[in-house]
Amino acid sequence: MVTLHQKVFFKTLILNEYYICIQMQIVPVITYRKIIHIDMDAFYASVEQRDNPEYRGKPLVVGGLPQERGGVVATASYEARKFGIRSAMPSKQALKLCPHALFVRPRFDAYKEVSRKIREIFSRYTDLIEPLSLDEAYLDVTQDKLHIGSAIDIAQQIKQAIKDELQLTASAGVSINKFVAKIASDINKPDGLKFIGPSAVEAFMETLPVEKFHGVGKVTAEKMRKIGLFTGADLKNMAEDELIKHFGKVGRFYYQIVRGIDEREVQPHRETKSLAAEDTFAYDLTTLGEMENELDKIAVLVYNRLLKNNLKGRTITLKIKYSDFKQITRNKSFTAPVANLETISNTAKQLLATTSPEDKKIRLLGISLSNFGEPEVKLKGVKVTGQLKLF
Ligand SMILES: [Mg+2]
Repeated sequence: MVTLHQKVFFKTLILNEYYICIQMQIVPVITYRKIIHIDMDAFYASVEQRDNPEYRGKPLVVGGLPQERGGVVATASYEARKFGIRSAMPSKQALKLCPHALFVRPRFDAYKEVSRKIREIFSRYTDLIEPLSLDEAYLDVTQDKLHIGSAIDIAQQIKQAIKDELQLTASAGVSINKFVAKIASDINKPDGLKFIGPSAVEAFMETLPVEKFHGVGKVTAEKMRKIGLFTGADLKNMAEDELIKHFGKVGRFYYQIVRGIDEREVQPHRETKSLAAEDTFAYDLTTLGEMENELDKIAVLVYNRLLKNNLKGRTITLKIKYSDFKQITRNKSFTAPVANLETISNTAKQLLATTSPEDKKIRLLGISLSNFGEPEVKLKGVKVTGQLKLF
């Protein structure tokens, strides 16, 4: 029975040269994607506390040891975070903040194995899994394999399975796009679950401080505050071309995201091609001392990202942007993969030295590592490339 407010159309299928008419009823509904972002809680530290009962309930730091040169914190347990210890902090500084903290080196093989098991849990629900690192992933469950339908139920089941099978906790963010799901997973950490539904997304974005926006670093946030932009609501009041004028191409992204629009797909086969960190300075650098100082800090950031992703790269690239916005890059490749803080910062400084650094004012410095892949192995004519990201 076709009623007045139901739209009707006829679809014609061609089947063995016979024309079959099928009558279909279409009810207009807006469909939203169902995206879950899962983030393990203090992952490396939690695995260590699970496997070593003597570490439980204690401030534990996984990463470089304080007595090592350039040792940094990869992950701090929640007990250690109470003392102000954070990822990427020099381990020496962590020890000062909490002299009775325990320091252990990471056991990547163990974390990779746990990661593999977590991914196996995800794959019960969907194949659209995009790992961001060993302990974080996006899942698209718009159509889940078990026909559960509710993304919240799926997130709850995944959290429960991780708890029951792996004795670890995860936090989940559930929403209609990657951007909001990722912010949501951080809200009720640890062991949290936060749902931001279609009708709540815009209001949520309006209250969000600008520094929480994707790609907004300290310098951009400062620039935004200077022109009176403090929250998503302020950004929403700006016209699109105005945002582009102030912030370049990313202005369009801000315009859309503040309206809850983020079309980025969950990409199951995305590989990490390079890892980078850079900094735009509040004032231009003119002396070699200042530049080397900044490179040391940036090297720590890159190093920590390598650690978090368990990657080693063969190529180190230095990026320099001058005060006139001209940009150059210099790189050096090694025969063996590098994942060592000293090599990264020393190479960046050597590359800097080749550019007559004190001739021009520098407004940005960046370091990236690339060329991660394992050497390609030929197997019966099939190219097999080393797996970069396990989850
Ligand atoms: Mg995490």
